[in-house]
Amino acid sequence: MAAETIFSKIIRREIPADIVYQDELVTAFRDISPRAPTHILIIPNVEIATSNDVLPEHEAALGRLFTAAAKIARQEGIAENGYRLIVNCNEHGGQEVYHIHMHLLGGRPLGPILA
Ligand code: C5P
Repeated sequence: MAAETIFSKIIRREIPADIVYQDELVTAFRDISPRAPTHILIIPNVEIATSNDVLPEHEAALGRLFTAAAKIARQEGIAENGYRLIVNCNEHGGQEVYHIHMHLLGGRPLGPILA
């Protein structure tokens, strides 16, 4: 199991976060420093540091990230116009928190990702 990060405290509701969705596998909350009108982080409740650490036993939780993303996008009213899902890995990927997370970004045109 990966070392605990601040995200584990958010999952356990030990520190405040604007949680928009939670079930037995994943937790989703608004990013503290939003880069778009909707910017939500969706994370597995199990600690996985990076996408390099993904194992077959994580497939249910990681699949749930996508079902949760679709549900939340509809809740946020951004499903129709569209949105972006991002997972950063390690230094070159720009990862800051070593608990794997999916960024859900939307609410405005986001432009080309590979600019
Ligand atoms: O993918 P990356 O690791 O760079 O993203 C981490 C994200 O976690 C950042 O967008 C940051 O704003 C967010 N964050 C947060 N709440 C915290 C710590 C970080 O929403 N307490």
